[in-house]
Amino acid sequence: MIMLKVPYAEKDEAKALGARWNKDSKLWYVPDNVDAAPFQRWVLKGLAPGPAKASGAPAGRVDSYAGKQVVGARYVALEHGCNPFEACPECGPKLAASGWSDARAEVLRIVSGLTT
Ligand SMILES: [Zn+2]
Repeated sequence: MIMLKVPYAEKDEAKALGARWNKDSKLWYVPDNVDAAPFQRWVLKGLAPGPAKASGAPAGRVDSYAGKQVVGARYVALEHGCNPFEACPECGPKLAASGWSDARAEVLRIVSGLTT
């Protein structure tokens, strides 16, 4: 037997599909000999433990940052395995084109201004 939560406005529709009224629980239900497929939108959720409930996480909340790589605004992906803080003939032009070199020069200018 599947318990249903049928809005009062839809009780006649549920009844026409074969749902029965349980006087004791004051709920509609699908008798065992009736196909439950047409009643899916009314199936009472929460009686059976679902996977979302078992995890303990608030339903509907998805942490979109989980598993994402966190990088700065000036992040530049370089195929080369060199040290990006030392001049490299292969990566230098790429860094200059991306704005990374200008940003780093600005940072160095600010830092030098703080220490002198
Ligand atoms: Zn390089």
